[in-house]
This record gives sequence, structure tokens and C-alpha cells, in this order.
Amino acid sequence: MEAKDLYQINIAESQNDHFRRSTLAENFQRGKILAIVMIIFDIVLAGVDISAAILKLDGRFHFSYYLIMYVLMILINGIYLLYIKRVGNIENKSIAQLRNLEIGLLVYITLIISWGSIVSLMDQKLYGQLMVFMVNMIICSVIYYLDHKKIMIPYVCSVLILLIGLPFFQDSNDILIGHYVNLSVFIIISWLASRIIFLSYYRDYKSNKMLQETNLILERKILENTVINSKLAALNLQLNELALIDELTGIPNRRSFRNHIDLGFERYVKDNSTLSIIMLDIDYFKQFNDIYGHNAGDKILRAVANQVNSVVRHDMDFVARWGGEEFIYGAFNSSAEEIERIAEAILSKVYDLKVPHRSSKKWGYITVSIGICTLKVNGKVDVSKCIEGADKALYLAKSQGRNCVRLTMPS
Ligand code: GH3
Ligand code: MG
Ligand code: MG
Repeated sequence: MEAKDLYQINIAESQNDHFRRSTLAENFQRGKILAIVMIIFDIVLAGVDISAAILKLDGRFHFSYYLIMYVLMILINGIYLLYIKRVGNIENKSIAQLRNLEIGLLVYITLIISWGSIVSLMDQKLYGQLMVFMVNMIICSVIYYLDHKKIMIPYVCSVLILLIGLPFFQDSNDILIGHYVNLSVFIIISWLASRIIFLSYYRDYKSNKMLQETNLILERKILENTVINSKLAALNLQLNELALIDELTGIPNRRSFRNHIDLGFERYVKDNSTLSIIMLDIDYFKQFNDIYGHNAGDKILRAVANQVNSVVRHDMDFVARWGGEEFIYGAFNSSAEEIERIAEAILSKVYDLKVPHRSSKKWGYITVSIGICTLKVNGKVDVSKCIEGADKALYLAKSQGRNCVRLTMPS
């Protein structure tokens, strides 16, 4: 056992409010059982004493003094039990109350061991033994968790009573010397036992506290992680959405178009389902950029995107920027006529923007050329066919003067 350790406990832990409270609660709990045992034991002894005195069995029992001591012991323990019961929950006590309770416990322990000292002094006339003192001393040493300073109070009081009193009660010098030697050894052993027990109690308390603190930190970390994870999930969602949106025009991009196709196949494509693709391309856009500048070109891209978006009818239609100045419009289960009407609507909506374009000799404004293809889809391979068809039709529209809608039937 490290003496330094014990000293540190006294300094550091005597300040520790929580440690003091839990130690006192533990001591009260353990003391309760001991007090009950002592009361029963002393009632039995008092009974035996009274019977022996009445029956005049032998001279072993001294009716008056021993009986007074047994009754005293019963009273001390009875008062102690009532006292513990009245104290209630130690957690709610103020520091001053805590201190008073600690003093109360020390008084009780001091009385118990000192009672042993007095009975042992009385025993000198009869048996010349120190048993009662020793039993009380060792029991209190192992039952109660008392720090280095506190344990000194019951020890010093009870030992002084015995050491000072012994010469008055023990007539034999040899026995007296033997008692002093035995007592010295016994007191050291008791003290060491009490220190070992207190130290292991203290270590248990500390590791429990550390465990509680670690658990608390862990719980906090888990909570933090949960918050971070939900933030990450929200960010991921945002990122995914961003990855599917065209930055310039704000409409879905080509990747998103693929997702819409997949979704459409899951939701709408059955037997005899059709897919229609409208592919549109701004006319003479390179020249527009060259003449009016790239920023003006960007504005046109946004404006055209808005116009195309404005003709979307329902969930089965979808629009995306296909790349550069090309846009794509897809629709499931629409007739060729309906699609043609949509394409014509886009055509006039763009023209109606009336954005002047010097290089467009024939129209004088920004226009688009549109290619359409509608076909039955039996599988996703048909999607490529449909896009190719719309592309071919677009080429036709370009070659046939631009600002017009053309359609092809795929071969
Ligand atoms: P056509 O009528 O045959 O379609 O001729 P065009 O000039 O429109 O076609 P071309 O493919 O030669 O030119 C497309 C132009 O689109 C070239 C490029 O500068 C422009 N472009 C592509 N993406 C953007 C963009 O994000 N912003 C701007 N301002 N221009 C773009
Ligand atoms: Mg183009
Ligand atoms: Mg073009």
C-alpha cells in the first residue's frame, strides 16, 4: 500500500463533495446492519446476564455493571438507527449538514470502540482479556470507510481509554506488559486493514466515476455524430440535386435526363407505350456569341430554357439541357400530334422573345430548329433510337431553313 496515495486521497478527496456524500451514504448503509446485529447480540447477552444473576449460576456475570454496558450499547445503536432513519437522502444535504452527519457518524464509531475499551477494562478483573475491545476495533475498521484523518478520532479516544485505564484494572505487571505489546501489534494491523479497505473502496469509486464520465463523453460524441450525419445526409441530398441541375439555366442536365428516362420506364412504360423526343438547337448561335458577346449568349440560353420549360404539361414530360445550345424534351405516352403541337409552341415562344439577331438573315431574331421523333418503346435501347430519330429530324430542320419543326419515323 502506498502511503503517498493515502495522503493524496485525504487532501484531494476530502474536498470532493460527491465522494464525501457517497462515502457517508455507504457508511450509513453498512452501519445499519452492524447496529442491528449489535442490538440483537447485546439483548442476548443482557438476557444471559440477567438469568445468570437471578439463578445465581456462578460468579461470571456481574449483574449491575455489565448489564448497564449492554443496555448502553443497545441504546447507542438504537439511537443511531433512528438517527440514520431521520437523515434520509444525503444527496439533498448542504455542506454544513454533511459535515454534521460525518461528525455524528464519528461520534457513534468512537462510542462503539470506546465501549469495547471500557468492557475490556472491566474484563480485567474476571478474565484479563482484551477481546471485546479488539472485536469492536476490527469490526469498525473493516466496516466503515474513513479517511486517514477521520479514523484517528475513534482510534485515539478508545486506545487512550484502554492504555490509561489498564494499570488501574490489571494488577499483574506481566499481563499488563503482554497487553501493551499485543495491543500495539493489533492496533497497527487494524489500522493497516482499514487503510487497505478504504483504498480499494476509493479506487472502485474512482474507476466508477471515470466510467460514468467516459460514458457521458461517449453519449455526447454519439449525439454529435448523429447531428453531423444528418447534416451530411442533407448536404449529400443537396449535392445530388446540384449534380443533376444545369448550373447556367437551372433546368435538369443530361445526367438528370437519363434518370428521368429510367423513372419513366419504371412508372409509365407498359405494352404499347410510346416515347417522344423533341430535340431543339438555337440557330446561328455561334454568330450570336461573336456579335453580342458570350454573356448575352448565356442570357439567351436561360431564356430559351425557360420557354421550353414553360410548355411542360405533367410528370410524364421532362426537359433538359442536352449540351451547348441544344435542349431535349421527352414525353411518355403522347400522340405524335400532341408532340408536334408542343414543338410548335416552343418554336413560337422562342421567336416571340424577339431577341434581335443580325446573322439570322431570314428571321432577324433568335430562333430554334426542332426535330421530333415518336416511337413505341419495348426496352431502353429504343430510347437511343428515338433520340437519333429526333437528331436526324433536327438536321432536316436545319437544312430546310431553320426556325421550323421536322419529324422522322425511325427506320
Ligand atoms: P446552327 O444554326 O447550325 O446550330 O449554328 P450554330 O452556330 O448554333 O452551331 P454551332 O454548333 O457552330 O455553335 C454552337 C455554339 O454554341 C458554339 C458555342 O460558342 C455556343 N455555346 C455552347 N455552349 C455555350 C454556353 O454555355 N454559353 C454561350 N454563351 N455559348 C455557348
Ligand atoms: Mg448545336
Ligand atoms: Mg445551333
